[in-house]
Amino acid sequence: MAVSGLRLGAEKLFEMPAVLGRLSRCQSTSQAFAEVLRLPKQQLRKLLYPLQEVERYLAPDRRQDLHLRIFNPSPEDIARAESVFKATEHNRIEYVSSAIRMDHAPDLLRPEVCFIGRSNVGKSSLIKALFSLAPEVEVRISKTPGHTKKMNFFKVGKHFTVVDMPGYGFRAPEDFADMVETYLKERSNLRRTFLLVDSVVGIQKTDNIAIEMCEEFALPYVIVLTKIDKSSKGHLLKQVLEIQKFVSTKTQGCFPQLFAVSAVTFSGIHLLRCFIANVTGNLD
Ligand code: GDP
Repeated sequence: MAVSGLRLGAEKLFEMPAVLGRLSRCQSTSQAFAEVLRLPKQQLRKLLYPLQEVERYLAPDRRQDLHLRIFNPSPEDIARAESVFKATEHNRIEYVSSAIRMDHAPDLLRPEVCFIGRSNVGKSSLIKALFSLAPEVEVRISKTPGHTKKMNFFKVGKHFTVVDMPGYGFRAPEDFADMVETYLKERSNLRRTFLLVDSVVGIQKTDNIAIEMCEEFALPYVIVLTKIDKSSKGHLLKQVLEIQKFVSTKTQGCFPQLFAVSAVTFSGIHLLRCFIANVTGNLD
């Protein structure tokens, strides 16, 4: 994985006009990011690196406890990732199909990432936000509790596939665990599982089932905190420290750095896009 190779330093974004000059050359492929760069410095930092923003509330000697810079891409990398997620004639981003069983899953050879989490955690909103540069993509939602929930497959050009897994928790159908378990166990092109946790309530009992599955199948997975616009900075920091402790003491396959997003303010979305592009081999 090229993650460790991407430590050019977010700080550069805020100090070097030369970087902005280089970035302007990327504008034709990532208009949205070019607009983001016009934001005032503090707003920009909050939008791109929401957890680095809360780090300031921690005493300096405790800052090393936060693993916020393991994946710390340069502005150029973020801009490149943006172009992967931008729908064009040559980069079609579209819904492929849905499946309730693995033998119905499309046989796509490209790398795959999946999103999993409790119902209502903000999964469809996050996927919509990630696909905001492809507004014609319809993220299908089955909201009726107890109804058959499906795995939905979306193709991102020739780069990778995104799989929206059914939400678990409240009145999940009986065959749900089988479907998810079989997918996680058998999908050989699955590169990363993104496990969504609501930043307001933290890890819940039902999340442990998903965590145990990822651990049992030795999958590399990443925890993403959702709805961070609803949490105060203090609460968010407390959740991050608690979950990081859980990750370092109780898990093997979970990436030590947490990602934090808001589908409302768009905080953390650009960084997450960049991470996805990286783990699917699209930033090499
Ligand atoms: P899903 O069941 O996991 O797909 O969850 P949804 O994406 O449908 O979101 C569940 C509820 O949370 C909806 O009312 C969303 O509007 C709300 N929601 C989702 N993401 C966010 C967010 O980032 N911030 C806020 N404030 N609300 C959100």
